[in-house]
Amino acid sequence: MSAQVIDHRGPDFADVGKTALDGMKTIFKTEAGRVFIYPASGTGAWEAALVNTLAEGDRVLMYETGHFATLWKKMADRLGVRAEFIEGDWRGGADADAIEAYLRKDTAHEIKAVCVVHNETSTGSVSPIADIRAAIDAAGHPALLMVDSISGLASVDFRFDEWGVDVCVSGSQKGLMLPPGISFNCVSDKAMEVSRKGGMRRSYWDWHDMTGPNATGYFPYTPATNALYGLNEAIAMLHEEGLDNVFARHARHARATRAAVRAWGLEVLCRQQGQESGVLTAVLMPEGHSADAFRAQVLRSFDISLGNGLSKVADKVFRIGHLGDFNDAMLMGTLSGIEMALAKSRIPHSAGGTAAAMAVLEEDIPAAIAAE
Ligand code: PLP
Repeated sequence: MSAQVIDHRGPDFADVGKTALDGMKTIFKTEAGRVFIYPASGTGAWEAALVNTLAEGDRVLMYETGHFATLWKKMADRLGVRAEFIEGDWRGGADADAIEAYLRKDTAHEIKAVCVVHNETSTGSVSPIADIRAAIDAAGHPALLMVDSISGLASVDFRFDEWGVDVCVSGSQKGLMLPPGISFNCVSDKAMEVSRKGGMRRSYWDWHDMTGPNATGYFPYTPATNALYGLNEAIAMLHEEGLDNVFARHARHARATRAAVRAWGLEVLCRQQGQESGVLTAVLMPEGHSADAFRAQVLRSFDISLGNGLSKVADKVFRIGHLGDFNDAMLMGTLSGIEMALAKSRIPHSAGGTAAAMAVLEEDIPAAIAAE
């Protein structure tokens, strides 16, 4: 990424741009979808998804999985879209049956899109996107399916074509292992068609400004060239390991983390079995203890940065990240730091979480590690 910036209108750039756009299709698992890359954080790509497909006054259905679902809804509200929320308790993914029931009531098909967060980073829960597509189809509803996989993509399984997703929003700074700064829309033919005739007034975010450049690898404005160098390397690394192996690595680390949490006598925030995230694990602090004071202690003592609880769960949870370029020793270092800090901070808990995690890792040794 620190290589020389090249002329983004010069002959060599096309290869960088095309490699990134084509490479991202393999990460989204799409043949038919079109990929757009914005020099923006994930929030910008959220906005792009909404303004290209929805008009002011349109109804959309969203599901309250946590903080990020709430922020996406706030954005829709600000844009004048009538966003309706199925309320959730922040302890699991979106409920496909509730979505189906809601859509069945919309016999006039006023709801234009269903928007869900795939991996809810604030809670560590994963929504069943294939089931949500099946729910939309079962209701015979034409709404677009829009998915925020900002923290899910390249960390937990995601299949754009197979799951019938219309717009997927993602970002550089999670499973793609890059610094923040670029974000993505992956768009189905159906969503492209909707945007051709509709959406809101827009300029910078317009997908159609980028369809021509997409074919050639050039962008309509100055691209984030160095981030694209990094992206191409990240895509190569992910395929070198194999996407399914990456997902399995994260899921295994998540299992070991949950074993540690249970052995400490603490509670994992996600309580829907099968929806626990491979990306991160959010842990509830015992009543009367501040998660933020605990996080500060872990940072001071061990230079380990745990994620904070956001909005509704502020100061109530801390989050252990286990995504990206992460291995067994990194996980064990993290869990050991937490266990030592639990004792140091006099948080009621049982010892033995670290050992429980190690037992899970030893039971379930991937072939690549066993061969070493
Ligand atoms: N959605 C999810 C699930 C996220 O995790 C984040 C950021 O962490 C966002 C949206 C917002 O993305 P950004 O902070 O890159 O604008």
